[in-house]
Amino acid sequence: MSNASQQFIRQAEPDPGEMQLSTIQIRKVSTVEKGIEPGLDCCGSGATGNNEKPGGTGCPNCGVEGQKVKNITVRSMVLDNLIENVGDQDFFFCRTPDCPVVYFDSISGRRFDKHDVKVRVWLKETEDPIPVCYCNEVTEKEILDEILKNGCPPALEEIQKRTGAGKGGKCLTRNPSGRCCHPVIKAVIQKAEKMPSEEGYL
Ligand SMILES: [Zn+2]
Repeated sequence: MSNASQQFIRQAEPDPGEMQLSTIQIRKVSTVEKGIEPGLDCCGSGATGNNEKPGGTGCPNCGVEGQKVKNITVRSMVLDNLIENVGDQDFFFCRTPDCPVVYFDSISGRRFDKHDVKVRVWLKETEDPIPVCYCNEVTEKEILDEILKNGCPPALEEIQKRTGAGKGGKCLTRNPSGRCCHPVIKAVIQKAEKMPSEEGYL
């Protein structure tokens, strides 16, 4: 497994040297995605639709309505030894940042938490590495560092070109939400633009 892949593994240990510089900055942007609607422009064919409303069924832990997610996404995300527990139905994706539940289905009672899935779920993580693009394995820190190095305000397309984020097209099976990461990339760019200049992002 390459270094690039290793940083996406759940509970991977961050490099202590890198953490010193970035921890404070990263904390500021770790919740940027919360209020962002699913993508306006999806990069992956077959990825879950953009305009679906919350499903009307609440997370068994936090009670907040989940976001529909296809069976194939859940099947791709859970640990190999849990795949037989997935069943055939679609699930809901819990978007509450501090809730450990990732997928749930109220009818069957099936539920998969953070420790049941293979990747770090970006909106439930507060420390680097926080994945943004799962297809090409680009983290929030890498995008921020790119902006720090080469300046603001970059357009989404520019960041895509510089980092490779949001160009994988495999969101349905790589992104735990089954959705395109473009809205998350945009949120990271917007957050970087709002950062005080003394932190170097403007
Ligand atoms: Zn929840």
